[in-house]
Amino acid sequence: MSKRHFSQVVIGAGLIGSAAARHLSQTGEQVAIIGPAEPAVLTDHTGVFASHYDQGRLTHLIGKDIVWAHLAKYAITNYEKIEAQSKIDFYSPVGLIVVSKPDKTNNYLRAPLETAEEIGAHYKLYSVGDRSWKNLFPYLDYPAEFPLLHEDEPAGYINPRALVEAQLTCAQQQGATLIRDTVIGIDEQASHLVIQTASGKTYTADQILVASGASSNFNNLLPRPIPLKIKTETIILAEVSAETAATLSDMPTVIYQIEADQIDDIYMAPPIQYPDGRYYIKMGCNTAGDQWPTSLDEIQAWFHHGRSDDYLPAMREALQAQFPQTEFLDIHTHRCFVCYTPSGYPTIDQLTGRIFVAAGGNGSGAKGSDTLGRLAAGLLSGAEWLPDLPRDLFRIQKWHISPK
Ligand SMILES: Cc1cc2nc3c(=O)[nH]c(=O)nc-3n(C[C@H](O)[C@H](O)[C@H](O)COP(=O)(O)OP(=O)(O)OC[C@H]3O[C@@H](n4cnc5c(N)ncnc54)[C@H](O)[C@@H]3O)c2cc1C
Repeated sequence: MSKRHFSQVVIGAGLIGSAAARHLSQTGEQVAIIGPAEPAVLTDHTGVFASHYDQGRLTHLIGKDIVWAHLAKYAITNYEKIEAQSKIDFYSPVGLIVVSKPDKTNNYLRAPLETAEEIGAHYKLYSVGDRSWKNLFPYLDYPAEFPLLHEDEPAGYINPRALVEAQLTCAQQQGATLIRDTVIGIDEQASHLVIQTASGKTYTADQILVASGASSNFNNLLPRPIPLKIKTETIILAEVSAETAATLSDMPTVIYQIEADQIDDIYMAPPIQYPDGRYYIKMGCNTAGDQWPTSLDEIQAWFHHGRSDDYLPAMREALQAQFPQTEFLDIHTHRCFVCYTPSGYPTIDQLTGRIFVAAGGNGSGAKGSDTLGRLAAGLLSGAEWLPDLPRDLFRIQKWHISPK
């Protein structure tokens, strides 16, 4: 049995954990990050899962509120630096459009418009009746009465798989150790922590950061569970030819407040080349059949044989309505999951003298994951919290209103 001691160990090599490992390894401490690689096949995988097994995540300054805007802004400022150091490209600043119901009280444009000036976003609002955005994106279509907001660069998308690889590459360049394993238990003793892994290894650490995403409450990682609610997420991958992908190369990312019976809250990335060499437009949304798994068994059941295809017809119809002239070669669903916290912001907090947690992306954690990892790393190393981000929003909180 091998045994090794590290000053700081990050559990979970996902978007937040890999960012935390990069930031921690800048301080010269002995840092390790433990987490499994993406499984080759999800439908028979018996371990833990992640929310980043994909090629496209929307990134933008405008969004839910000014706190999310600042989280994104700090991170976006670092994208080019991480790309340059790792020599891994993950960022495409193609812009974003937000298409909203005209309803004045409950629409997707209120928060972005409130924050756009303060955060310094470059944007243009196309009010009801102004369809001149069609000159920019003639291949897209939306209901005539829906206003549209276009945020220019730095909005666009990041490749979450590539971002994780880039962060891990930088962390290792700075001396961090990457251990491809799954943690199955943490024991806090008076002078240190003992970490057990699925492959039978034992490691010790002075401090631990649990950044295991939706699985943070499983596998005995934390001394007590934190409030996290997991939701299943269904996406479609719509294949287009390489020629079509080229004609859509200036397509922005999309957030669309669709009016439909079975689905809502559409988000979409332009055609991106996936590991199989084909080009897919990725579209996700909430569905009427979304579930709230509470155990690893239920999560595995969802990834293995969840009924994501129940919503394929509704999602296909919504996609084709947005691309009236585009031919799709194949459209299939994929299953994923997200997790929510009571505050609606990621939880970044300290549970004991030695155990810290950074989890709960609330469906929006990719774009600002570098900031979230930076904040968590700062808690361990005693760095100052970042300005513009109210500390209390990120503390462990109780449920007042459950999202379920
Ligand atoms: C379909 C979909 C679309 C999304 N779109 C967007 C978007 O457009 N923009 C955006 O900003 N966000 C988006 N998100 C949200 C974003 O992907 C998540 O918020 C983000 O991945 C959270 O990062 P994380 O590090 O907390 O979790 P993850 O990325 O899931 O990483 C957690 C890691 O922990 C590991 N782990 C778990 N348990 C253990 C264990 N016991 N031992 C060791 N390792 C463990 C896992 O293997 C995983 O690698 C989307 C999410 C989904 C699912």
